[in-house]
Amino acid sequence: MDHGDVVIVGSGHGGAQAAIALRQGDFAGTVLLLTRDRTPPYERPPLSKDYLAGEKPLERILIRPEVFWAERAIGLRLGTEVVAIDPRTRTLTTAKGEQFSYGTLIWAAGGEARQLACPGSDCAGLHTIRHRHDVDALRRELATGARRAVVVGGGYIGLEAAAALRKLGCEVTLIEQQSRLLARVAGEMLGSLFLAEHRRQGVDVRLGTAVAEIVSAGGRVSGVMTEAGDVIPADIVIVGIGIAPAIAPLIAAGGAGENGVEVDAFCRTSLPGIYAIGDCAMHANPYAEGALIRLESVQNANDMANCAVRAIMGSPAPYQSVPWFWSNQYDLRLQTVGLARGYDAEVLRGRPEDRDFSVVYLRKGRVAALDCVNRTRDYAQGRKLVEAGAIIPAEALADTERPLKDFH
Ligand code: FAD
Repeated sequence: MDHGDVVIVGSGHGGAQAAIALRQGDFAGTVLLLTRDRTPPYERPPLSKDYLAGEKPLERILIRPEVFWAERAIGLRLGTEVVAIDPRTRTLTTAKGEQFSYGTLIWAAGGEARQLACPGSDCAGLHTIRHRHDVDALRRELATGARRAVVVGGGYIGLEAAAALRKLGCEVTLIEQQSRLLARVAGEMLGSLFLAEHRRQGVDVRLGTAVAEIVSAGGRVSGVMTEAGDVIPADIVIVGIGIAPAIAPLIAAGGAGENGVEVDAFCRTSLPGIYAIGDCAMHANPYAEGALIRLESVQNANDMANCAVRAIMGSPAPYQSVPWFWSNQYDLRLQTVGLARGYDAEVLRGRPEDRDFSVVYLRKGRVAALDCVNRTRDYAQGRKLVEAGAIIPAEALADTERPLKDFH
């Protein structure tokens, strides 16, 4: 049985960064990186952006060059899916029946894209965007002439996919069951500005209606029927309705959690010697007023990896990183800092018609988050305001003559 002093499960942003941080911290033990992926560690954000648009090849989205892992004595095992954990004997079993033993385990398995569950949703032509092979399959269909796309879900992934598909010349309809876009992650102001932009770019956005049925012909999608009864003709459907965290083996082994595995401020699960990081980790976040949440971002995966590695290397520091995120759609570059949750006011800074503005979210008068569109200076200077929970009058925040650093 192969042994790793540290075994990491999952080679996404969290798992890859954990391995990198161990070696950067001169960890002298053995490190195994087990992953279901068949591709060396790669970045996921480009999958719905430039990789989908065909503007970035695989080599440019690898987290490190292919040779890096062996050079750093990181035992990367591709195509290795862990299906069971025995915390008593500290062993793992894979889908192929191999076993590995570990001293410490870092669970960084991310999540799987949720699928539609309506009639017809098992026919060919439906796609999700989570893995590289998902996008390769989608691009193969586009290459063979698929032109009419329906995107289900008006969150970041759905919107980015819609923008990339417009760039590729597809007809795009986007269906969102909420009454606005980005309802889970941003405020009304940003949602309606992105709505206007997508419509301007020719996307047929339908709000407040869910998918009732996937219409098919010969086992392949031919259209999408909405709950409103409309049938939208489609060659392909892209489903972007969130993820289910990949935590089954941990929960079966006795780990606490439901929609994510629960971790403490040092990314420790309730099981001895097992840490969990990234999209699958449910943690009390200081920027969400201590609420138990999962964050789906590169920042969170990387910073949790660093936090877990510090604890493993004997210099623990609690996880308190400021959340940040970005999204690219058309020529709009959105940068977000903080969490737009539980806010009671939104302040617009700048003019959306100039394609250069920010939305500042206030919670009980304190700056909780900023969404900055093509306005990197606000993003950089606003971070300190979020960290400090600064109290600034709305009129002052709206005044673009005053740089945000004036309020530091
Ligand atoms: P993942 O990156 O999902 O990695 C999980 C890994 O675990 C994978 O390698 C998987 O194969 C492996 N795995 C799963 N189960 C098992 C198992 N049982 N055994 C072995 N291996 C397993 N974030 C941003 O900050 N900005 C963005 O613009 C942005 N855009 C995104 C666009 C897309 C299309 C997607 C999908 C995500 C985007 N994100 C973005 C989110 C970001 O990519 C994730 O938050 C990040 O990848 C999470 O890292 P992770 O390591 O937790 O999980």
